[in-house]
Amino acid sequence: MQVKLWGIRGSCPAPLKRKEFQEKMKKIIYSVYQICKDHPNYGIQEVVDTIPSPYKKTLGGNTTCIEVYHEKSKLIFDMGTGLRLLGKEIVKQDSPDKELHILITHTHWDHIQGWPFFAPAFDPNYTIQFYSAIKDLESRLEAQQQSTHFPVSLGEMKSKKKFRFLKKEEVLHINPFQISTLQLIHPGRCSAYKISVSDKTFIFATDTELSPEKDAPERKAYLPFFQNADLVVLDAQYSLKEAESSKGWGHTGMLTAVDYAQEWGIKNLILTHHDPEHDDMQIYSLFQEAREYLKSISKAPSLRLYLAREGDIYNV
Ligand SMILES: [Zn+2]
Ligand SMILES: [Zn+2]
Repeated sequence: MQVKLWGIRGSCPAPLKRKEFQEKMKKIIYSVYQICKDHPNYGIQEVVDTIPSPYKKTLGGNTTCIEVYHEKSKLIFDMGTGLRLLGKEIVKQDSPDKELHILITHTHWDHIQGWPFFAPAFDPNYTIQFYSAIKDLESRLEAQQQSTHFPVSLGEMKSKKKFRFLKKEEVLHINPFQISTLQLIHPGRCSAYKISVSDKTFIFATDTELSPEKDAPERKAYLPFFQNADLVVLDAQYSLKEAESSKGWGHTGMLTAVDYAQEWGIKNLILTHHDPEHDDMQIYSLFQEAREYLKSISKAPSLRLYLAREGDIYNV
C-alpha cells in the first residue's frame, strides 16, 4: 500500500510568505556557494540534490488530504485544499474505474474546503461514495455551497454522490482494504481510520488532542487501535508551550505525539496538521526537538519520525 500526502496544513491554507521565500533563497545561495567550492566537478542536478531539504523544498501550504492506494485501488481521506490537486491528477489519469471512495474524518473547514474545486465531482461519469460517522454529511456539504458562499451548489455538481454512514466499531471492506474507525478527542469529534491490506496497517489520525499527562485515559483507551501500526499520520500541530495555552482546541503538541507513538509501539510516525502560524523553519525546528526528545526517552527507538510534506509518498 502507498500513502501520498496532498495536504498537510492545519486550520487554514498557509502559502509560503515573501519574507520566508527570501530567507530560503539566501540559504540556498550560501549552500550552492559551499557545495560548488567543495565539489567543483558537480553538475547542476548534483548541486541541487546536495542542498539541504529544509531550504530547497517547502512543506506545502494546502490543508489536509491523503490518498491511499494499492495496485489499482484507491481511497481518499479528507477534502482540504490538497484535494484540488488530487482531482486534477485523477482527471489526467482517466482510469476506466470511475468510482471514487472518500472517507471523511470531520467537517471543519480545513477538511472540506477543497471539495468544491474537485474536478471529478463535476463529471457525470464519476460516482463518488462518501463514508463518515456524520449522519448529515450531505447537508453539511450543501451548506458550504449555499449561493452566499459559492456560486455552484452541491446538486449542480454532475457526478453521482452516495453517502454511507459508518456505525461505531463497524468494520468496512472496500476491496482490498479493511477499514475500522476510532472517535478522537476533538471539538465536534473526529474519526481516525485504520486501513489494513494483507498484514500491513496504516492509521490516519488527524485532529486530536492527546494530553501530555502520564495518566491521561486515552493512553490506554486508544492503545488497542494504534498498537504496533506500521505507519501513522498523527496530529502534531503545536509546540509544548502552545499546546498548554491551547487546551480544548483539539490538537496535540509534537513531543506529546512522539511520546504516545513510542508508548503504543508505532513503527513509523508522520507528524502533521502543521500550524498556519508556523513557517517551514519553525516546523523543522520543532521536528529537530522531537527527534532529540525521542532519543532522550529511548536509547534504541524502533520508532522512526517523519515530517509531513506535501507530495511525499510512503510505502507501507
Ligand atoms: Zn483540521
Ligand atoms: Zn478539526
